[in-house]
Amino acid sequence: MKLVPLTDEHAARRDETMAAIQRVQAAGTCPTCHNLVSGEIFPQADARTFYEDDNVSCFLEIYPRNPGHTIVLVKRHLEDVSELPGDDHVYSVIHDTIDALKSVLGAEKVYLVTMCDGPRNHLHFQLIPRLPDDEIRGSRLLVKERMLLTEFAVDVGRLSAAMQASS
Ligand SMILES: [Zn+2]
Repeated sequence: MKLVPLTDEHAARRDETMAAIQRVQAAGTCPTCHNLVSGEIFPQADARTFYEDDNVSCFLEIYPRNPGHTIVLVKRHLEDVSELPGDDHVYSVIHDTIDALKSVLGAEKVYLVTMCDGPRNHLHFQLIPRLPDDEIRGSRLLVKERMLLTEFAVDVGRLSAAMQASS
């Protein structure tokens, strides 16, 4: 995969996505649930998806902070991690995804972030790999400038194979 700086066009597209999120939230609807039905909010993720089952979907972030930046999306609506049972299947998918990011991309560590912004938040996890060349300072990795993900097809195939091998 290759990460390139955001062009003005992509920065504008990202702003449009953020505006769409706010519009839907203002109407009292969860943007992610709305998107799961309509596909109207977020960029189409099928080509970036390397694992999916009835409960969860794992795909490469289109505007990553680091190579391998992954979104683990819980399909059912939960507002935040406090609503996810401690023995939920999602945790084992996260574990397998971390293993895959280590074996496929050579990540030394994988940082796990879950945020709960906004009036209608939909539970998802961000996995941000720390690669051998990265400084060991999470505070910098987590605020690295967002880039545009390109040339990711081979990596999606390898991550998908790694996920199948672990299940
Ligand atoms: Zn939702």
